[in-house]
Amino acid sequence: MAGSPRVGVLALQGDVREHAALLAGLGAEVALVRRPEELASVDGLVIPGGESSVIDKLSRTFGMQEPIRDAIAAGLPVYGTCAGLILLADEVLDGIEGQQSFGGLDISVRRNAFGRQTESFEMDLDVPALGEVPVHATFIRAPIVEGAGERVEVVASLPDGRIVAVRQGPLVGTSFHPEVDGETRFHELFLAGVRERTSRR
Ligand code: GLN
Repeated sequence: MAGSPRVGVLALQGDVREHAALLAGLGAEVALVRRPEELASVDGLVIPGGESSVIDKLSRTFGMQEPIRDAIAAGLPVYGTCAGLILLADEVLDGIEGQQSFGGLDISVRRNAFGRQTESFEMDLDVPALGEVPVHATFIRAPIVEGAGERVEVVASLPDGRIVAVRQGPLVGTSFHPEVDGETRFHELFLAGVRERTSRR
């Protein structure tokens, strides 16, 4: 298949437009995804930052939880930022009562891990997998990956060792928001996974 990959941004809540604009800037054909039919038409999905408990609830209201779980199980490339990372985690710590995730990443994630004093902060992160230029990372009420299974590749950690970016096959997750800083390399990594998958069909 030549041409642009067709990718979706889960558009239930959160910073949908920033991701859509960034992906379009990278040459992808972007669809906003709210319904199962829309999910079925894309070759990759971004789950934005926002509020994971709200996206979880809306996904169940809109009948999207099962289709997304099935798509992940079938190998759909998915990139989750912040709340999106929480939704990709197999285990969520400090979720609200009854909070669920789509899962797929063999990780345990703690919500709002930096406490009230550090609601948000920015820093330059070394991310060897993305080359020598550090990633300027913005953390907003961010989660931390507290545990990761053997199949999970740690892509970035804070200087104190806490994990903030991971990859497992076609699934990528970051605690922070590259899309607010115009950092494109995580989205490019995701799109590379999408292209690899579509080229195999
Ligand atoms: N704290 C939010 C949550 O639990 C995530 C914040 C974000 O996406 N910037 O979903």
